[in-house]
Amino acid sequence: MSEIYDIFILGGGINGAGIARDAAGRGLKVCLADKGEIGGATSSWSTKLIHGGLRYLENYEFKLVRESLKEREVIHQIAKKITKPIPFIIPHTKKHRPKWLIEIGLFLYDTLGGKTVIPKSKSIDLSKKFTNILKKEFTDGFQYYDLQVDDKKLTKLNAEDAVKNNAKIFENNKVINIELLDDFWKTSLENGQIIKSKILINASGPWINETMKNIIKLDSNKKIRLVKGSHIIIRKLYKDNIAFTLQNDDKRIVFVIPYNEKFTLIGTTEVEVNSPDENKIDDFEINYLIDCVNKYFVKQINKNDIIDTYSGIRPLIEDFKEATKVTRDYIFDLNTNNNLPILNIYGGKLTTYRKLSEKALNELSKFLPTKSNKSWTAKKKLI
Ligand SMILES: Cc1cc2nc3c(=O)[nH]c(=O)nc-3n(C[C@H](O)[C@H](O)[C@H](O)COP(=O)(O)OP(=O)(O)OC[C@H]3O[C@@H](n4cnc5c(N)ncnc54)[C@H](O)[C@@H]3O)c2cc1C
Repeated sequence: MSEIYDIFILGGGINGAGIARDAAGRGLKVCLADKGEIGGATSSWSTKLIHGGLRYLENYEFKLVRESLKEREVIHQIAKKITKPIPFIIPHTKKHRPKWLIEIGLFLYDTLGGKTVIPKSKSIDLSKKFTNILKKEFTDGFQYYDLQVDDKKLTKLNAEDAVKNNAKIFENNKVINIELLDDFWKTSLENGQIIKSKILINASGPWINETMKNIIKLDSNKKIRLVKGSHIIIRKLYKDNIAFTLQNDDKRIVFVIPYNEKFTLIGTTEVEVNSPDENKIDDFEINYLIDCVNKYFVKQINKNDIIDTYSGIRPLIEDFKEATKVTRDYIFDLNTNNNLPILNIYGGKLTTYRKLSEKALNELSKFLPTKSNKSWTAKKKLI
């Protein structure tokens, strides 16, 4: 009889790859398949930040921000080569948020995550600093730090470490059908291969509604909203190695970040879409990002400055709020099916993938051998 894996993971984004690494390192037999390249979808279309999410404090998401800040520290420690702290400047504007609100937010941001090597926030006199970058009207502001990350590399490193621990990973191999049989889950891949597993994890990111409906053919009581986020890339807007957090008139935040030595990355937008494959920037988004930059910067940009763009789809848990306010947290939907469980993963952030993976395995621990119950990824370097 052919091999039965402990776990089969549908999807090799950061969440699938993170779970594969954690599970394989615990000695479990793991198989994962992705229809594309590992980390080739949402997990490489992010703003490339490992961050607490300062903005989420405004929505009272203290638990998420605390977990994210703690993870920021852990990920920096385990993946120093692909993460680097970068200062973010928030130019103060009277019409957006009052100073006291930002000060309280930054105090919480500095303290909620506990001990950290990442520098604390401070006020900054913009009448003396960055005067060649920002317009004269911005005379004061704030500075805080977050981490920049190579998001695709982070995902690939997790997958590679899983393979080192004997996980089987298929790339460019779509999962076309999954059936629950009496003793195992039977997964059919596009290349004709059949995979048997005791546990099924659905980590298909924004495709989760589609994979549930068309491939696994099971109902889930959780729903997601698909919210497109787009970035534009232009030639370096300024020389300094700093990023900016710009407040826009609709209360949203736009980041301006140095990117790959010669470029500046600007994003993001929030546009609801109907399909996870609608990941192309539109004119509205291009103008939105350009207008925001031109409100703050001395150097004005236009469409002709755009060298490249990319968009990703956020799979946000439906909680019937406007897109900006929908939680960026993740939710598990576990169906135990008489000891042949399926775990569906909804939402999440790059920043919280390691904790998510650990929690996923804890959630499944009663279906796994006791020797595999030990968490280990917080201390082991990703190389
Ligand atoms: C614009 C934007 C900016 C963001 N910025 C940040 C940020 O700066 N910091 C942060 O922490 N988070 C950020 N996020 C969130 C973060 O990027 C996502 O939460 C994370 O990448 C989701 O990972 P995932 O593994 O769930 O999904 P994905 O990376 O999309 O992985 C799912 C995988 O499933 C595969 N798949 C789907 N269907 C099938 C099938 N039938 N067969 C085989 N494979 C299949 C897909 O090919 C894909 O690779 C951002 C998100 C967006 C959209």
